[in-house]
Amino acid sequence: MAAVRTLNDLFLHTLKDIYYSERQILRALPKMMKKANSPELREAFEMHRGETEGQIERLQRIFEMLQKPARGVKCEAMDGILSEAESLMEEIEDPEVGDAGMIANAQAVEHYEITRYGTLVAWAEELGLPDAAKLLQETLDEEKNTDRKLSDLAEQRVNKAAA
Ligand code: FE
Ligand code: FE
Ligand code: FE
Repeated sequence: MAAVRTLNDLFLHTLKDIYYSERQILRALPKMMKKANSPELREAFEMHRGETEGQIERLQRIFEMLQKPARGVKCEAMDGILSEAESLMEEIEDPEVGDAGMIANAQAVEHYEITRYGTLVAWAEELGLPDAAKLLQETLDEEKNTDRKLSDLAEQRVNKAAA
């Protein structure tokens, strides 16, 4: 990893971290769609897959603004969240319990994204990058909406079906 000396370096590093993460998430979502038992959960994952493609494009636009190559840097945290999710799903046989577990896993992903994008918005503003801040805020709003939608789905249907 290149040395991180300034807030600018830290911003770029974190941008690369979330760029890597989004691409891992984009690969994981079709598998989650296939495993989802509830049609609503499948639709929620499908919708977020589309949003994730747009989020990756936003990050590429920000790299362009910064005149830096769009390159990811391995995120141990996202790799860990995704591999923990995969091994848990292998343990679950009941499809309804599986849905409850998958929502919990997906929310761990969303919460990681929310913390990263929240920080990136604040740093972009501090660094005088209002256009980047605006794009990052759009993604942050999508992640928060996804998290809320998953909570509603769990509390209104999936948890009851699993119980
Ligand atoms: Fe995302
Ligand atoms: Fe990370
Ligand atoms: Fe997300």
